[in-house]
Amino acid sequence: MPLLSNPEDVIGRRFDFIIAGGGTAGLVLANRLSENPDVSVIVLEAGNAHVDDPIILSPTGWVPQLFNSEYEWGLQSTPQPHSLDQRLFEFRSGKGLGGSSSINCLVYLKPHRADIDAFEKLGNPGWNWENYQKYSKKAESVHAPVPPVRQFRPTYNHDDVGHDGPLPVSFCPIASGVEYPLQKGLSELGIETISTGFGGETAGTYKALASLHPVKMTRTDSANAYLFPVIDRPNLQVLTGALVTKVVTSGDEATGLTADAVEFEHGGKFYQVLCAKDVILSAGAIKSPQILELSGIGDRSILEPLGIETKLDLPTIGTNTQDHFTCTGPAYELRDGNDIITEIEGPLPLVMSGYAFFPLHKAAANAQELIDKISAKINDEASPYSAGLREVYHVQLELLKDEDVPDVEIMVVPFSVIPMGPAGRAYVNVPPVLSRPFSRGTVHINSADPLAPPVIDPHIFEEDIDMEIITAGFKVSRAAAQFSPYKDIIAREVKPGPDVVTDDQIKEHIKSHVGTVWHMVGSCSMLPRDKGGVVDAKLKVYGTNNIRVVDLSILPILVSTHPQATVYAVAEQAGDIIKADHM
Ligand SMILES: Cc1cc2nc3c(=O)[nH]c(=O)nc-3n(C[C@H](O)[C@H](O)[C@H](O)COP(=O)(O)OP(=O)(O)OC[C@H]3O[C@@H](n4cnc5c(N)ncnc54)[C@H](O)[C@@H]3O)c2cc1C
Repeated sequence: MPLLSNPEDVIGRRFDFIIAGGGTAGLVLANRLSENPDVSVIVLEAGNAHVDDPIILSPTGWVPQLFNSEYEWGLQSTPQPHSLDQRLFEFRSGKGLGGSSSINCLVYLKPHRADIDAFEKLGNPGWNWENYQKYSKKAESVHAPVPPVRQFRPTYNHDDVGHDGPLPVSFCPIASGVEYPLQKGLSELGIETISTGFGGETAGTYKALASLHPVKMTRTDSANAYLFPVIDRPNLQVLTGALVTKVVTSGDEATGLTADAVEFEHGGKFYQVLCAKDVILSAGAIKSPQILELSGIGDRSILEPLGIETKLDLPTIGTNTQDHFTCTGPAYELRDGNDIITEIEGPLPLVMSGYAFFPLHKAAANAQELIDKISAKINDEASPYSAGLREVYHVQLELLKDEDVPDVEIMVVPFSVIPMGPAGRAYVNVPPVLSRPFSRGTVHINSADPLAPPVIDPHIFEEDIDMEIITAGFKVSRAAAQFSPYKDIIAREVKPGPDVVTDDQIKEHIKSHVGTVWHMVGSCSMLPRDKGGVVDAKLKVYGTNNIRVVDLSILPILVSTHPQATVYAVAEQAGDIIKADHM
């Protein structure tokens, strides 16, 4: 049984490293930094411990978790003008030890090498694909592939993945039965099945790995892989139910701010722990910027009206957010007699594993015209972009122009969280996901109360190119269903249905059925300060001497695949950076 701390064990004590947030990244750091018995580490996690919790361990437990505040922060966006009826969007984010790794859908994918090399091109030395693979392999322990299920074969190269890291990762031993027919349909469109998906070349279709224990068939997350095995280290303290409210600093902009302590709320009372070396914010892309702003580090024009003294004017905090947007459909009612599994409850785990990633050039006949249009807008001095964002966009444009780098994804969702049609029938949703939006959003506080939720404004579809790319992806998904054996398992399209045909109709459908898959990044971007950065390449907040951010918020451009593998790799790399600075 893990040894969790009580407040009285830690209040007023000095720790070398204070980690705010015991989520995916935070617990990797807790493990790596406390490997040295001479340094002391404390993790302050707002949520509960959830030790051996069957809902978390169940690979399909994420569905009930989404609707339960014990596991999830339950945040919402502001009304979005580019969606139908100015909709508000649910922003899901994990709460408790393990964070979002304990509530996610288990999908484990590595990005395209160009996604990561872009970080170095943007001015972050050492943040490249070679290092990514080194640290990703250090994190994961990938187990031998399962045999093909329903003709759906795991295709991967043994040397592209790690085999002895703390995090067990495996191929889900079942499949819905839709994945292989979709692969065949996509291959008719020139999107082939590949074996390089975990080696940095992701354009094509392949079976995703899963953060799934290969023997126990339970979820693996940062809590059970990184924390619980080492929680009895005497130099490591973990306090749950501890909401970090601010970093207490001394100094000023001239000397650089120094974090002296971290304040947290526990059981309705406020306490402090003292900092000897670094404070590391790992509260996720929504909450890490919130903690900085509550600490007086942020945009003066946001802080002062709230009565928060500006210790460091850093207006880039909470800007540059990006997310993976998707929609419902194309979705199909399936014919009887094909033995398709579309239920999520059952004796075996059904983890989503059918994925395709492809460049705009493969998806749209007018790709070049669309690229020229967004290029012209970015280069137009009259466009409303800061000089820094314009430079980031130039690197992002290179990714869009590259005919080997994916811009859009299709995923097989072999069950429906929302009703698709009459009960008792089998449905599958095969939606597009926009890989790398150009629209940039914000997340900021609008209250000095640390318990108040931050304001999330993702600016969904503010840039037209985003709608064009997702529409192209939608049409590829639909086109694949013209071919056998895919078309043979489909009874009818239920969303959006046969009446939605033209591009304008498809766009209207997407606007009214858009959602996020909860992969927000960018709110504390790792970039040179003049390009809009919040942290430098050592993940230190500009203008501070010892405050770092280590979580998904540091990604300056969103990676084109699902990001949990990337969080583990980022945190492993960060662990070595911090050790090199201090130990
Ligand atoms: C529902 C859902 C499904 C997803 N599915 C997938 C998937 O299948 N595949 C994939 O690759 N990615 C998926 N993701 C995304 C991925 O899991 C996350 O992006 C990633 O885990 C984020 O890691 P992180 O370390 O940045 O933050 P988190 O893991 O979210 O950690 C942040 C931690 O900080 C804590 N915290 C927040 N504020 C405070 C505070 N003030 N004081 C103390 N603690 C605080 C939180 O409670 C949490 O534990 C999904 C995400 C969600 C929400």
